Amino acid sequence: MRITVWNEYVHERHNPAVAEIYPDGIHGAVAGLLGEGVANAQVQTATLDAPEHGLTADVLDNTDVLFWWAHLAHHKVTDEVVERVHQRVMQGMGLVVMHSAHLSKIFCKLMGTTCNLRWREADDRELVWTVNPGHPIAAGVAQPIELATHEMYGEYFDIPAPDELVFISSYSGGEVFRSGCCFFRGKGRVFYFSPGHETYPVFADANIKQVLCNAARWVYQPQTSSIVTDTSPESPTGWFQAD
Ligand code: ZN
Repeated sequence: MRITVWNEYVHERHNPAVAEIYPDGIHGAVAGLLGEGVANAQVQTATLDAPEHGLTADVLDNTDVLFWWAHLAHHKVTDEVVERVHQRVMQGMGLVVMHSAHLSKIFCKLMGTTCNLRWREADDRELVWTVNPGHPIAAGVAQPIELATHEMYGEYFDIPAPDELVFISSYSGGEVFRSGCCFFRGKGRVFYFSPGHETYPVFADANIKQVLCNAARWVYQPQTSSIVTDTSPESPTGWFQAD
């Protein structure tokens, strides 16, 4: 499984508190946990400042699963690269969208809604409850996952109804949130997972690692349908019987 972990890589270079938690960047931490937890994973990273944000056609053509973390620099991602990622998802590439990437151009484009939500940075305790225990992304995950302190992300979350809902979070402040959501888009699979605020060591948590590794395996499709989706073919009567 060829995985690319994309990160805007801004907080870690400007906030020493974040750099202390993630000395190799959030992309480094996520790449590390995937490399350890996903069998036969070939993991590479890409960041905003690289030419074409590190997401050239060649890189994307050789990516089965793309992870995306971003917060401050959504607007700096070029529409050309967003379109390229979108086309790859339509053709079957898996996409895992983490935390504040809910407002990334690619996620908003895939959802078709504002993707706005309610938030608060106040050291809330977050409990991540599995609401779909047969789902592969919930396999081996504690019930609930407890994050002693985390940013609150609450409803209403302006997304389409998820095709499959895996997790709902609750917070010490009382709110709830659809924190693990699956979507089918074109031939691709998309998973949104909300834990992952930059000032908390969330990606070091064993259960969070398990979820992300499960997510990589769920969005990964080594074979996709032969159905043509990049054009609308004119089809004479009997076309599907021709040999
Ligand atoms: Zn955050």
